[in-house]
Amino acid sequence: MAKAKTIQAPKGMRDILPEEQRYWRHVLKKAEPLLEFFGFEKMETPILESTELFTRSVGEGTDIVEKEMFTLRTKGGDSLTLRPEGTAPTVRAYIENGMSVRPHPVKLYYAGPFFRHDQPQKGRYRQFYQLGAETIGDGSDAVDAELIFLGHKLLSGLGLGGYNVHINSIGDSNCRPAYVKALKDYYKNRIKKLCPSCKVRLKTNILRMLDCKEEGCKEIAKDAPQTVDYLDDDCKRHFKHVLEFLDEAKVPYILNPHLVRGLDYYTRTVFEFLPEESAGAQSAVISGGRYDKLIEMLGGSKTPASGWAMGLDRVVEALKDNNISIPDSKPKPKVFLAQLGDAAKRKSLVLFEALRRAGVETKSSLGRDSIKSQLRIAHRLGVKFTLIMGQKESLDGTIILRDMDASTQETIPMEKIVDEVKKRLKA
Ligand code: ATP
Ligand code: MG
Repeated sequence: MAKAKTIQAPKGMRDILPEEQRYWRHVLKKAEPLLEFFGFEKMETPILESTELFTRSVGEGTDIVEKEMFTLRTKGGDSLTLRPEGTAPTVRAYIENGMSVRPHPVKLYYAGPFFRHDQPQKGRYRQFYQLGAETIGDGSDAVDAELIFLGHKLLSGLGLGGYNVHINSIGDSNCRPAYVKALKDYYKNRIKKLCPSCKVRLKTNILRMLDCKEEGCKEIAKDAPQTVDYLDDDCKRHFKHVLEFLDEAKVPYILNPHLVRGLDYYTRTVFEFLPEESAGAQSAVISGGRYDKLIEMLGGSKTPASGWAMGLDRVVEALKDNNISIPDSKPKPKVFLAQLGDAAKRKSLVLFEALRRAGVETKSSLGRDSIKSQLRIAHRLGVKFTLIMGQKESLDGTIILRDMDASTQETIPMEKIVDEVKKRLKA
């Protein structure tokens, strides 16, 4: 038969192999207790959501809705989308599960895969992983500062110093219209120099023009009007207090008057954690901001909220790039259980379980028949003892205990072996 053609993972999607797992486990092991300490509770939402959840929240005219969603039609004719981000699903769940009756703020976090039809490259995948934190039901500046502080602590706790918080305030529905008008006037006079997408954005989502990654548009954006000059008194005060909190907590930040974020639902504070050295287009490890309008937009009652999402793929890559040593949490095996013959093989599974219950780190290789090859594995694993159950031993209820360092062995009654091993490992 001809060798069958192999099949590859979809473009921009990858396997996370066993040897990679410790990085991911390490990040969550550090992050989750920190989030819990700050009062965040974990929740999960489905991988698929109604397409409308994202078109209504993230918004038409954004990269996500325009080009990045994986959308499918069910046999029943519904349009579903693989979640491209976690805030809208969290808010949907908050509303749907009546969480508005809980004591506020409701603080939630999540971790899992997200999907965007992005152009794959280092740090940018079509299936990627985010850890997100959301504080729902509190409009105060302290909440924004707490979230940023938490992100900062998380990164530094992972040994990833070297990130700056780029921060801005984009105002709210009271003051943003005046800013949008000023921006429109500015861009209208420069329309010829804009990229094709920005020509469309001028009509659909003008704030996003400041976020354009085309060189020409970036150049034009440099002299564009700045949001901070248009903030009303409340928004200005809010922003000032956030910054005062960050000063007090010694979180390094950079005022970035053109930071707008790609999504529609943000109000007031927006921020991104970018590496100190390169401000590359795909280098943000945490992005977030306040979204006081989103809960209403999704059919809930007027509720302020704020949050961020951390790109776990980028964090794991940063851990590797910075050669940060990750503790290998895997326990070292102390005992190898070898067997010879069918009867012994059957009995060895029961003994294996008895050793596990007794807390003795044991390995075995049930599929193997030759004692020689099993002993070779035992040596490779560096165990202290090998237990050998042969045909004879399995019949008379005994087992051979081999001391690997001393190369000595003795026969022990089966019912005593677990205690004997425990005793000798302690000695
Ligand atoms: P970018 O400008 O890099 O496309 P974004 O503004 O689209 O980012 P957000 O929607 O704010 O990103 O997502 C939050 C975080 O998720 C980002 O800061 C980043 O770390 C991560 N992220 C976003 N898209 C991807 C992707 N395609 N692959 C890997 N990580 C991603
Ligand atoms: Mg993006």
